[in-house]
Amino acid sequence: MRLYGQKDVDRKALKGARIAVLGYGSQGRAHALNLKDSGFDVVVGVRKNGKSWKKARREGLAVAPPAAAVSGADLVAMLVPDVVQKALYLEVAAALKKGATLLFAHGFNIHFKQIRPRKDLDVVLIAPKGPGDLVRRQYQQGRGVPCLLAVSQNASGHARARALAYAHGIGGTRGGVLDTTFAEETETDLFGEQAVLCGGATELVVRGFETLVEAGYQPEVAYYECMHELKLIVDLLHEGGLKKMHEFISDTAKYGDLTRGPRIVNASVKKEMKKVLKEVQNGKFARQWIAESASGGRKFRRMLKQDLKHPVEKVGAALRARMPWLNARRA
Ligand code: NAD
Ligand code: MG
Repeated sequence: MRLYGQKDVDRKALKGARIAVLGYGSQGRAHALNLKDSGFDVVVGVRKNGKSWKKARREGLAVAPPAAAVSGADLVAMLVPDVVQKALYLEVAAALKKGATLLFAHGFNIHFKQIRPRKDLDVVLIAPKGPGDLVRRQYQQGRGVPCLLAVSQNASGHARARALAYAHGIGGTRGGVLDTTFAEETETDLFGEQAVLCGGATELVVRGFETLVEAGYQPEVAYYECMHELKLIVDLLHEGGLKKMHEFISDTAKYGDLTRGPRIVNASVKKEMKKVLKEVQNGKFARQWIAESASGGRKFRRMLKQDLKHPVEKVGAALRARMPWLNARRA
């Protein structure tokens, strides 16, 4: 394992560089503001007079349409949604300065060959291990979200130094920058969100809620048990792993965990996880998602809507309305 910190940064690598940040969403906003506060010459590339355009201007950043932002930039950060990146790359490719650095926060389009960058470009990855609002908040507090770093094209011979200097600019070296590859970042990121974080955790919550409600318990009680209290456990795991959770839960909870947990996430679940990983590795998932987006995303939107029709959402909304502090952090 190679972990870079602040002392590893070559401050000359991006000295005086002009950085174009394409997109002003979760990551784009955080990166642009942090880089500006770190002293870089930053321009945000977004659609003229759109919502992001106005927001970035209001927040004190220079803005330009994507191709104009890219022309003259030494580094271009591609921070629009993954399925939009290919079209945007084609739109701005001609304006990209010779020898510039093209940077991604997720390896999807490079790894699955949706974007084939010009050979004169450095192509790098700086993927913060947290959402944009955390990347911004940690930076403002003098800390930083850890990042992954990878290089897929090193035309200049300085690609890694440039990527690390960028990570430093967004605060990442304070949290540590871990060396990886586009393949490893892309495949682990997709697997993690599918099997454990977004897919796995939500299915576990919803099926647990259903089990209690179908057995005749009140939905409100089931909600507190299966959704609300998950945060307590996740926070303990996040702060101190299994050991810290053991320290804070009762012996009864621990005994139930050790004897029943493996029956829920059992060998057949793990077998299915391996299949899901295979579909990530062999490109089946990527092809399916790209095709769905390319055909307008109707099925995707229908499934999203369906997901939110579940009774856990109705009871959850009512209960959360009584806990106004829950949303204070993001307000
Ligand atoms: P987002 O959806 O929050 O931001 C999208 C922004 O892109 C919009 O605000 C808009 O400015 C712009 N945009 C949207 N559609 C566009 C279009 N058709 N043409 C031009 N501009 C358009 O995106 P995000 O979640 O910040 O993701 C950006 C990249 O960061 C992705 O590669 C993603 O995988 C990666 N990433 C995201 C997170 C996260 O927590 N959200 C974490 C790590 C990496
Ligand atoms: Mg789900």
